[in-house]
Amino acid sequence: MAKDEPKCAFCGRSRSEVGILIIGPDGANICDECAKLCVEMTEGQGARRNAAAEPMTPAKVAATAAKMRTEQKPEPRPLKPIALKKPAEIRAVLDDYVIGQSQAKKVLSVAVYNHYKRLNDKLFGNAAEAESVPAGTPVGDELRGVEVEKSNILVIGPTGCGKTLLAKTLARVLDVPFAIADATTLTQAGYVGDDVENILVRLLQAADGDVKRAETGIVYVDEIDKIGRKGDSASLTRDVSGEGVQQALLKIIEGTLSNVPPNGGRKHPDQKYVQIDTSNILFICGGAFVGLDRIIGSRIGNKFLGFDVSEKTGATLSAEQIMAELQPEDLFEFGMIPEFIGRLPVVSALSQLTQKDLEHILTRPKNALVKQFRKLFAMEGVELVFEDEAVAAVAKKAIALGTGARGLRSILEKFMLDTMYELPNRGNVRRVVVTADVVNGLASPTIE
Ligand code: ADP
Repeated sequence: MAKDEPKCAFCGRSRSEVGILIIGPDGANICDECAKLCVEMTEGQGARRNAAAEPMTPAKVAATAAKMRTEQKPEPRPLKPIALKKPAEIRAVLDDYVIGQSQAKKVLSVAVYNHYKRLNDKLFGNAAEAESVPAGTPVGDELRGVEVEKSNILVIGPTGCGKTLLAKTLARVLDVPFAIADATTLTQAGYVGDDVENILVRLLQAADGDVKRAETGIVYVDEIDKIGRKGDSASLTRDVSGEGVQQALLKIIEGTLSNVPPNGGRKHPDQKYVQIDTSNILFICGGAFVGLDRIIGSRIGNKFLGFDVSEKTGATLSAEQIMAELQPEDLFEFGMIPEFIGRLPVVSALSQLTQKDLEHILTRPKNALVKQFRKLFAMEGVELVFEDEAVAAVAKKAIALGTGARGLRSILEKFMLDTMYELPNRGNVRRVVVTADVVNGLASPTIE
């Protein structure tokens, strides 16, 4: 290097070693790479800049630059097209794990099938073009080049009715990475809580750090109804917990290049970011939307005023019938911002689980709770028998709890505790029988 050749004041490399060197006064020069890094670092600071932001010194920039240059990115596995299953095949797998919710299963199977068909076309379009719009299709030429937009999904239903389970099972069917996020823990950048990007961190972890795979995954965002704007003042004052989060989440849901700290946590100036393109990630948002039925009900009521469905005919609509009337404006009324609603075009309502559903959940799915307990006992060489009435009694208790299928496990654990405590001490047990009385606390299991 020539002695007087100007150098970057940050990384120390001379003009000939860098792409572009911007010359500042008194040797305050900066190269293109360091300048770019500075921009990334300031973006990482975001709204926190005024809070406890650490000063960005040349040494810090240089250290980060050096680190970034030396860190080798692992070679990602080549991405293969997702093995697509037809809607009916997807539905069949859902049936193995999820009881009831027939309409939701249908809606989700079709939505997911279309999503991955679109994704395969987009990612492998050239190779798969012949298949994506088969030659000889009458309107084939017209449709080539049409880009099918992503359809994220909104699932509405009471707690414990299988919203998360459905999303999780879908990811399993397609063998794509899956992550669950809780909207209530999310905050706008700059406030205490989880940055919205942390959703993507979890997805990246589920994909074993493989960015390309993460970019084809499914994210379930729970409790989406809890970030509804509160009151009507939202347009005047920023509502940290609600509308701001909706805005931040919206960006990710509609598709953006997001800088993600690979190990999670707060964005930090010294950190290396991974860039994730969210435009092919399928977002399934779920929530109970308590009170939404009333909003819909009063709207239908208004429309039907003069005919007055309920009073003249005496007919009352069931919760499902009311939910079937859902319009985007009801979600707006509930507190979701219009852009957000627009990004979740597929809406599916799940119904409250009935006692029969709960009984089936206890006994039928591949991983049914009763089967799990029977297996635990079988490991001790003991046959565990649940009488039908016992199963019914558990379901009844769960309904009284009002937390859907979520309450089932704790109910079982409670009355099985004593037996599970004593059993290993008693060598000669062959069979344990659970009756309805056992469930209701009126008797102990019969031990034979
Ligand atoms: P939520 O609707 O609140 O997201 P989850 O899907 O998390 O409810 O359900 C909680 C648990 O209850 C699940 O892990 C699952 O074991 C059980 N469960 C809920 N709904 C169903 C269902 N329809 N079929 C089978 N199991 C269910």
